[in-house]
Amino acid sequence: MDAIEVNNLTFSYDSETDVLKDISLRIPKGSYTTIIGHNGSGKSTIAKVLIGLLEPQAGTVKILGRELNEENLYDLRSHIGIVFQNPDNQFIGSTVADDIAFGLENRQVPQEDMQAIIEESAAKVGMNDYLNAEPTNLSGGQKQRVAIAGILAVKPDVIVFDESTSMLDPQGKASINKQIRELNKNKDRTIISITHDMDEVAQSEYVIVLENGQVMMEGTPQEIFAHQDELEKMGLALPFALKISNRLKDMGVLEHGLLSLDEVVSSLCQLKSKN
Ligand code: ADP
Repeated sequence: MDAIEVNNLTFSYDSETDVLKDISLRIPKGSYTTIIGHNGSGKSTIAKVLIGLLEPQAGTVKILGRELNEENLYDLRSHIGIVFQNPDNQFIGSTVADDIAFGLENRQVPQEDMQAIIEESAAKVGMNDYLNAEPTNLSGGQKQRVAIAGILAVKPDVIVFDESTSMLDPQGKASINKQIRELNKNKDRTIISITHDMDEVAQSEYVIVLENGQVMMEGTPQEIFAHQDELEKMGLALPFALKISNRLKDMGVLEHGLLSLDEVVSSLCQLKSKN
């Protein structure tokens, strides 16, 4: 079964211009899928349609095999959660614990079960020492980790990250990307990450490229990055590691392009030790 199945989806904000144009796509259950595309290509809009915040004019969205509609919207929300770009817009509680509790209260989780769930979720993102802290006093990266804990508390099967690391410094970005990979480690949870970070895309399993409200390409990172010219036309660069390793391939040093810097370094070290 697919985590997400979208068929012939069309969406318009003003019922004049279609922002999503007859989109059909599938996101495999348990996958780590990235969605990329130029600004304005419709990435955030599709994320909001998937979680039922926006209603499409035409087409269907199935979450874990069930078609999203007005009747089951609330129920399906416990299966799919979203972490937005700006952590400051996501805080509701006056302490970190209150904030994580919010989604649980909404779902009428019994009070006596809450504390354990809050502590467990905060521990998963390394924020258990901050339960009584005020969210406003946290760093950007810490705020995003609390937002993730809030989602984890509800234990959704599918989590959408909408450019969740774009406002963070490199350290915060690396820490959240690590969390994201961790969430997907056992393959029981589907991760959908909308991102501009091509190094993150290189680490994902499946990539969907949106352009002007349509699916332009989809496939594994290797398949997508083989279309360098088309990507560049859309303003999308190759991952740094691939750029370097492609150059080294042209120079006859490496045999093929590589997707991570670790792989580039270890390949170069192996060559050195052979010589
Ligand atoms: P992306 O996430 O790829 O940058 P968006 O989904 O945010 O793209 O936007 C797709 C298109 O929809 C853009 O042309 C954008 O201007 C338009 N758009 C986005 N949000 C709104 C809105 N709330 N009202 C009207 N138009 C919108």
